[in-house]
Amino acid sequence: MFDELIGNSRVKAVLKRMLVSDRLPGAMLFTGEEGIGKKLFALEVARALNCRTPKGEEACGVCSSCVRIRKLNYPTRDDADEWTQIIWTNHPDVGLVVAPKRVLRVEQMRQIEKEANFRPFEGKARVFLIDEADKLNDASANALLKVLEEPPRTSHLILITARPAMLLPTILSRCQMIRFSPLTPDEIESHLVKNDLDVKTARLRARAAGGSMGRALSNDLITFTSQRKAMLKVLNALVLSNDRAQLLRSAEQLNEAQYKDEFEERFDVLETLIRDAWMLSLGVHSSRIVNEDLSAELNEIAQKMDPARAGDWILQIEDLREQLIVNVNRKVTTDSLLLVMAGDVAAGKRPKVR
Ligand SMILES: [Zn+2]
Repeated sequence: MFDELIGNSRVKAVLKRMLVSDRLPGAMLFTGEEGIGKKLFALEVARALNCRTPKGEEACGVCSSCVRIRKLNYPTRDDADEWTQIIWTNHPDVGLVVAPKRVLRVEQMRQIEKEANFRPFEGKARVFLIDEADKLNDASANALLKVLEEPPRTSHLILITARPAMLLPTILSRCQMIRFSPLTPDEIESHLVKNDLDVKTARLRARAAGGSMGRALSNDLITFTSQRKAMLKVLNALVLSNDRAQLLRSAEQLNEAQYKDEFEERFDVLETLIRDAWMLSLGVHSSRIVNEDLSAELNEIAQKMDPARAGDWILQIEDLREQLIVNVNRKVTTDSLLLVMAGDVAAGKRPKVR
């Protein structure tokens, strides 16, 4: 049942309409951010096509076909050979391919071509998911085009990607694109609560997830909490205490070896804190901010903060991200950023570190 999936009610309506009218395209492209359920929706389409006791045009969710289609048998080992095969569900007509390393391979597309030409073994339709379709290279894209040009009537291909712009126009033009939206914090929160998470933690995870259920489930809250604590110190030093020594200590900590992998995450966190304080300073209610549980601290900052500076800070952080792409010295860049934010160096006259 599509209703069991979270969010994207518009997509549900479109897919149901296609199923009811028996006009499901032979090739579809599911696009939208990571971790919002594109693959689950694709499997739900496969279920709807193969369910033994459908309810209207929808899958029942409980018959043996429905149950088996949900179970993908990912290889357990790192063995690249296994990952280059079609990964079947427990149903013989539904499978998926993923990029074994950086690209989807020609042989994977040839397997799909071969399998798509078989009539369904058990159900009514064969369904193949091509995950991370942005990892098609020219060769594998061309191999896939052969199937897309003339898909057999009983087979459906569903390409999935968060980066549709990476696909060749020839592929795009042969697929019906279905766009997924990010989930709302409320949709994520209520799902987490339904799965026995306490409301406070669920809300925090939902707010920190940026619309992705995948991120809401995988975020490490202990790390997140300590990152927030450290970044709140930076904001405090900038707005409340005007404490240069604290800023330099924070810059130093950002560059400590143990936090090396968290460097960019910490700036993400700092950015959400700045945005929150900014919103509070503009009179937005604390229930609408990301770090709602820190609203007391953030309100204090918001009262002393010049909203115009918040806008500058966010631009300055974005600027730092750009500089990081070209691999500048992180330590120098961080020191310089925090001092610019503190107003010690005029933004335009910042010492060039490139
Ligand atoms: Zn069923």
